[in-house]
Amino acid sequence: QAVLAEVLKPPLKVYRADLEQAIDKLLHIELHKRFLYQVKNLEALKNIINVMSYLNPLNRDGRTLLTNLNESVGTNFKNGSDFKELIDLEEKSLKAFKAKRYIGCIGSRPFLRSFTCSLWTLFHHWTVEAAKAPQPFMPGEVLSTIHGFVEYFFGCSDCAQHFLEMAKRRNMNAVKTYDEQILWLWEAHNEVNQRLAGDPITEDPKFPKIQFPSVENCPTCRNDNSEFQKEEVLKYLKSIYDIKNLSFYGLP
Ligand code: FAD
Repeated sequence: QAVLAEVLKPPLKVYRADLEQAIDKLLHIELHKRFLYQVKNLEALKNIINVMSYLNPLNRDGRTLLTNLNESVGTNFKNGSDFKELIDLEEKSLKAFKAKRYIGCIGSRPFLRSFTCSLWTLFHHWTVEAAKAPQPFMPGEVLSTIHGFVEYFFGCSDCAQHFLEMAKRRNMNAVKTYDEQILWLWEAHNEVNQRLAGDPITEDPKFPKIQFPSVENCPTCRNDNSEFQKEEVLKYLKSIYDIKNLSFYGLP
């Protein structure tokens, strides 16, 4: 109840605890699901670990873990248990994960929100951080990493099918700048929000799907005709998803 009250109290915040949970679940569940690694899914795995090792809000142990994984991932990997063994080994003396629960991604009932919410949050955080110096990745590289994850590892196959179709239709590969990359993901996410809005099974009634951001959270993001102003949306996304502005609420 206290967490719900914190999250529902404006303005909207992005929580480190959610990003930590996303990375935790990716490493310990989602990325092992592929029993056999082959050329393409192994490449996708390497890209995910590489992006995550540069763009993450973890503590020192967490950053060490991701840096070490990034150096070792791929060499002689045959299947998910090779990856799991590597993580177990690297994690032994480290306390990388402290978050016990979702905060911004808390659901008002079990089975709502949580992991997929934290994934979107992580992906937006990546696109915003990638735009900042030293810009370790080329424009578009974060999107293609997300695409690789969705294509080869995402456990929600319906979601994957929709996302891959949308990536083609919305010309994901034509993204040329870091700002376009941030806005591409924002628009794609809004398309998903629109499709799912009002769905009695997947929508949390306490967190209705909206065209993001809401007027309350970003009054300047729309003009008098309620049309989005992309420059303002970009500023807003760059602010809330910036590592400097993440909330520590829910972390010890
Ligand atoms: P989410 O949509 O998960 O969003 C998380 C948080 O991001 C929100 O709370 C908000 O703070 C912020 N946010 C919302 N919109 C935007 C935006 N446009 N830009 C920036 N930030 C934003 N579920 C299905 O049932 N069918 C699908 O096809 C499907 N496809 C998916 C594809 C992907 C790649 C992912 C990651 C998830 C998909 N899901 C799908 C899950 C679904 O999108 C939601 O994650 C889930 O319903 C939980 O919704 P939520 O209310 O927690 O908010």
